[in-house]
Amino acid sequence: MLDYHAAPNLLAEKVILITGAGDGIGREAALHYGAHGATVVLLGKTVKKLEAVYDELQAQGSPEPAIIPLDLNGATKTHYQDLAATLKQQFGRLDGVLFNASHFSVLGPFEMIGEEEWDEVMQVNLKSQFLLTQALLPLLKATADSSIIFTSSGVGKQGRAYWGSYAISKFATEGMMQVLADELSNTSTRVNCINPGATRTDMRARAYPGEDANTLRTPAEIMPLYLYLMGHDSLKVNGQSIDAQAIK
Ligand code: NDP
Repeated sequence: MLDYHAAPNLLAEKVILITGAGDGIGREAALHYGAHGATVVLLGKTVKKLEAVYDELQAQGSPEPAIIPLDLNGATKTHYQDLAATLKQQFGRLDGVLFNASHFSVLGPFEMIGEEEWDEVMQVNLKSQFLLTQALLPLLKATADSSIIFTSSGVGKQGRAYWGSYAISKFATEGMMQVLADELSNTSTRVNCINPGATRTDMRARAYPGEDANTLRTPAEIMPLYLYLMGHDSLKVNGQSIDAQAIK
């Protein structure tokens, strides 16, 4: 999927929400979606990072973005319902969601997974997606063509030692995508998963501290799939889990 070329105006007039938009892959997706005409809603934990992305979007001439500071670990159903109401009031529409934010701290043996760590991973990586999707579906279903993208991982398809609750949360994300995609198969909303593959970000550096980051693809290099699944070229693609770095 590295060779897809998006039309410059692929996402014109679209409003797209991105979680974890302040850093890494989410930041790059925000810049690319904005560059292709979308109004991007930046959701994340660290306000300073979101503001920096906001400024970059403004500087590159993209439509004016919006910022939603939210810690997905503490957020409740009410936060997500309020968020949906705000989007409806401010923009009157929502054309896409990129669920990108994830919590990952360290690798470790299964027997050592702490209950608190398990709960945080499941809250941020899974339950927040369930609650936010429920809150946003009425808006997404109301548009002629909308796209939900979840973010998976290689360890969300094949379990691997020491990846613990993070890997399990990614398996569940794949499951949620499949259930939702099947339910929505006769609607105008499509649902898919992206597996970014090894990508040069802070999260990857935390998981592989000894690795030479220069051997990895950058977030910018894996953007073709993020654009493809968000734009109308993927209208008929539903229920798929796709590797961003797969060579066609
Ligand atoms: P980064 O750590 O660079 O970015 C993660 C983003 O998620 C940050 O913007 C962070 O915000 C946000 N986030 C984390 N916790 C919360 C929270 N509680 N509330 C709100 N936002 C939160 O990660 P990547 O860019 O590498 O990862 C992006 C996605 O890709 C993740 O889903 C990851 O699992 C997946 N992935 C990445 C791979 C890689 O090699 N990089 C490989 C496979 C999958 P803040 O900075 O403010 O904390």
